[in-house]
Order: sequence, then structure tokens, then C-alpha cells
Amino acid sequence: GGLIAYADSPSDGERPISIENEKETKKKKVVVLGTGWAGTSFLKDLDISSYDVQVVSPRNYFAFTPLLPSVTCGTVEARSIVEPVRNIIKKRYGEIKYWEAECLKVDPVTKKVFCRSNIEENLAGNNEFSLDYDYLVIAVGAQVNTFNTPGVWENCHFLKEVEDAQRIRRSVINCFEKAVLPGLTEEERRINLHFVIVGGGPTGVEFAAELHDFVHEDLVKLYPSVKDFVSISVIQSGDHILNAFDERISSFAEQKFQRDGIQVLTGFRVLSVSDRMINMKAKSTGVEASIPHGMVLWSTGVGTRPLVKDFMEQIGQGNRRVLATDEWLKVKGCEDVYALGDCATVDQRKIMEDISAIFKAADKDDSGTLTVEEFQDVIEDIIIRYPQVELFLKSKHLLDVTDLLKDVGGNDKEVDIEGFKLALSHADKQTKSLPATAQVAAQQGAYLSRCFNVRDKTISNPEGPRKFRSGGRHEFRPFRYKHFGQFAPLGGEQAAAELPGDWVSMGHSTQWLWYSVYASKQVSWRTRFLVVGDWSRKFLFGRDSSR
Ligand code: FAD
Ligand code: MG
Ligand code: MG
Ligand code: MG
Ligand code: MG
Repeated sequence: GGLIAYADSPSDGERPISIENEKETKKKKVVVLGTGWAGTSFLKDLDISSYDVQVVSPRNYFAFTPLLPSVTCGTVEARSIVEPVRNIIKKRYGEIKYWEAECLKVDPVTKKVFCRSNIEENLAGNNEFSLDYDYLVIAVGAQVNTFNTPGVWENCHFLKEVEDAQRIRRSVINCFEKAVLPGLTEEERRINLHFVIVGGGPTGVEFAAELHDFVHEDLVKLYPSVKDFVSISVIQSGDHILNAFDERISSFAEQKFQRDGIQVLTGFRVLSVSDRMINMKAKSTGVEASIPHGMVLWSTGVGTRPLVKDFMEQIGQGNRRVLATDEWLKVKGCEDVYALGDCATVDQRKIMEDISAIFKAADKDDSGTLTVEEFQDVIEDIIIRYPQVELFLKSKHLLDVTDLLKDVGGNDKEVDIEGFKLALSHADKQTKSLPATAQVAAQQGAYLSRCFNVRDKTISNPEGPRKFRSGGRHEFRPFRYKHFGQFAPLGGEQAAAELPGDWVSMGHSTQWLWYSVYASKQVSWRTRFLVVGDWSRKFLFGRDSSR
């Protein structure tokens, strides 16, 4: 293979040089930051025979985040949705190294990452270390976003981590225990039992539904004296909850919530949160309102981690909101660093930037015009490189290039450069950024491991784009996301699902689909067994309401 030894590596000064070490240092060093969806999916399929892999993450487990809302009410136990990182990498024990630590800084110039172990009683008193890399994979995810709203950090719950879900579970029970104490007025009991969710996205909605079920299936029997004082409100700044889903799903959810007595307040922006009150403003009228609460869950989208912000400033991406990569997931403006999952976004190249080069490459006989055949011959490659073109054709209900040529009013036999530009001039408007989901993160991890597995081994990939390689030479096809659909559990054993091909399904049978999909998606048989066991236990005995 074309592996390059790097004798000038400054690392491992204290290791005695031996034949074995020499062999080892010939392997390129890959450092992976993060063991979430993106990081673990990268590690699972990575061929480590040519890499020396080190993993840094402050949590030594992978968490199955789609089931976090179920943990908040004890439907599923926290232990059931986590898998130790060491279990995931143990098949290749000794080859993939894992360090439980947080990465504090990336230095792309010296190709080092600086880390701190979060085990406080570190013996030597020095819990900081640095690692050298040849390739760095940043998969640290995102953090909660408060939009600098005053009081949110201090007074709201979040739902990002397993600990958050456990904290919420304790807090819900707390509210009930507080509400039944003697000597409270009815008003005070009501306030203690007013649960507010800020953010009507999938997480907020699912939590509201979970909480509603927990209260009505389990808690009302245990706290009968206060059962009529419970209320749940969802505050959403947009006009509808679940607005990233199909309209049919968001109205189904809104109707179900209305029947369930879950209050949905749309068009409100939260201004501040105190320990007792939440202040908000109607976006249309500007009228402010304050409502008392017993507990608030803040679930309004994600923000960039300080580590990633700092790195972006170093590489000239300081004015951006999210770390940008190219379509091969390589960080822009930086060599040998890849970023995937929630911490990054793929900056899709515009076809209009390359339009002349594409035309030249496609016009094989240099006649100055493209025939339908010549056009037909490159359209597939164009779509691989610029997926927005496919969306554009679909949006205009055009089936092939003949239709496209007809559509721009030219003849349908051939096209010159101006006609070609005109035909594709609106395609870039269809560029879509990928959502911050586990599905995207996992597919990106798997994609990147495939690239790593064949890189340096083959000079060129016969599968790669043949005709043109605008925006840099590449051996691989660019990353392409495949959407398998999306679920929204709505409580009461009902769910909504949006499946590929504009297919929408809602109701009880969809909930069963949800159970089977989420059981099958578990990372190990161990967690699958635990999760299914928890579901069965809930059906038989209800949820556990102890703190
Ligand atoms: P994460 O999974 O967040 O992983 C980040 C990793 O980096 C973690 O291991 C973290 O410990 C580590 N890390 C953090 N900081 C550092 C540092 N400084 N140094 C080293 N390591 C660090 N998506 C879906 O597709 N379907 C769903 O149903 C769904 N439900 C969700 C429900 C909830 C409640 C939440 C919160 C998210 C849900 N998502 C869902 C979104 C999905 O979880 C994320 O998109 C996904 O986790 C992103 O993967 P990631 O690897 O980029 O980040
Ligand atoms: Mg990750
Ligand atoms: Mg995760
Ligand atoms: Mg992303
Ligand atoms: Mg020609």
C-alpha cells in the first residue's frame, strides 16, 4: 500500500524504539473525538489494520438518544439505552484505544489535540494530555442552545444526555410530592403541577406526550388528591408544532394534544425564565404574558460547542454558525480534519460555480454544443456531485434531460452553453442542509469509515465520478444522505411517521412500527433485550414512580 512512514513524528518520546514500535508508527494515527452516533458508527466499520486509532470522549458509553424521552418518565430505564464504548470496540481490544476525557483544543498546525480527563482524583495530579494525529475526526455533537435567554441555564431542564433524562424523572416526581404536601393552597398545587415545554420540535412533543401518559396512566392513581390540578403546556415560536414534519402530521399531533388537554401555545417567544415564572411575548401582537410553572423543559434546537467555535476561528470559519465541511466531510480550510454529525454541516457546492467546466467536460467532441446524448451521459454524474439537481428536476416534475431542454424553451436536440446555464440556473435554490439527526450522523460515520478503509490503498476508485472532478480531485463519491423517514411518538400508544415517498402514517399501528424499528435499531442484543423488557414491564406493571 501507499502508507507513508513519518519518522519525524514528535510523539512517543519516552517509548523505547523497537522493531514493533517502528511497525506501529508506520500506521497513520487517527484520533476520533466523540462516541455519539457519528463517532461510534465511524468506529464500528473502520478497518484498523492500517490505522492506529485513539478515541477521546468524556462519556464512556454510547447513548441511544431517540429513547431519551422514554427515560424521562421511567418507561425505559437509563441503563437500557446505553452501551459501553469499551464493549463496542472490544473486538479489537488493544488496537482501538479509548481515553475518557474531554478535548479542549485542536491545533491544526501542529496536528495535536489537547485533552483533559474528567476523573478528578487523577493520581499524578496532572490530568491533561495531548495526542498527535495524522487524521482527525471531529464528532463531538452539538450543545443545547438557550439563545441567551435570561434564566434558562439556571431554571430549565434540558434533554440531551442520559443524566438530563434521569434528572427530569426525579424532578417530575418532586413536583407531585411537593404538590400533595399539607398546607398548600389549591393555586400552589396547580403551579407545582404545571409542566411547561419550550419548543414544539420532536423532542419537546415526545416529552409532552410521555409526560401526559405517565400522569394519566400511573400518577393519577398514586396522587388522586391532586389529579385534577395537573397541566401541560407546549410553547412554540412557530405557527405549528412539529413544523419540520408533513402538515398532516403536525395537525394530527395538534388535534391529539387538544383532546388530551395538552395546551399548545404557538407564536410565542420566551423572553426569560425564573424559578417560578416564564415570561413570553406574542410574536404577532407584541403582548407580553407571564405564566407560573412547576418545571420547564427547554428544547429549542442546538448550538455550537466552544471547542468547535475555537477551532472554527483558527481555520478562518469564525464568521460561520456551524463548522463547514465539503461533500467528502473534510473540514473546509484545513487539511486532514473531518467533521460529521451535529457538530458540522456539509457545505454543498453550487453547480453554477462549475457550470462552464461541466459543459466543457461533457462536450466531448468540442463542438460547442451538447447533444441530448452528451447531456444524458453526464446527468448522473452531475446528480452525484450536486444532489440539488435531482431535487430541482423533481420539483419541476421533469423526468429526463429532453424534458429539461424543452422546459427552457430551446430545442430538445442540443444545447449551447447559454442554454445549459439557463436550464440549471435555478437548481442551486434546491440545495438543502441536512437535519441534525442520528440518521444523518450514523450514515456519515459509516460513509467516512468506508473512505478510510480504501484510502491510500487504491489510487482511484472506479466507482467515483468519471467525467469531472470539480472542486478538487477525489477518489470517492461524495457523501449522499438517504432518508428513511422519521417518527413522532404522540402518546397513548399512537405515533406518526413520515416515510420516504411522501408516505404518512398515523395511529396505533404506527406505534407498533415504532416499537419494532427502535428495537431493531439497538446497538447490541444486550440493549435490545433490556429495552424490550422495559416496554413489557410498563405494559404489565406500569412505570416506576419512585425517585
Ligand atoms: P452526539 O450523539 O451528541 O455525540 C457527541 C459525542 O461527543 C458524545 O459522545 C459526547 O460525549 C462527545 N463529546 C462532547 N464534547 C466533547 C469534547 N469536547 N471532546 C470529546 N468528545 C466530546 N435523531 C434521530 O434521527 N431520530 C430520533 O428519534 C432522535 N431523537 C432524539 C431525541 C433526543 C432527546 C435528542 C437529544 C436527540 C434526538 N435525535 C434523534 C438527534 C440525535 O441524537 C443527534 O442528531 C445525534 O446524536 C448526533 O450525533 P453526533 O455523533 O453528532 O452527536
Ligand atoms: Mg459522535
Ligand atoms: Mg448519541
Ligand atoms: Mg450535521
Ligand atoms: Mg458536443
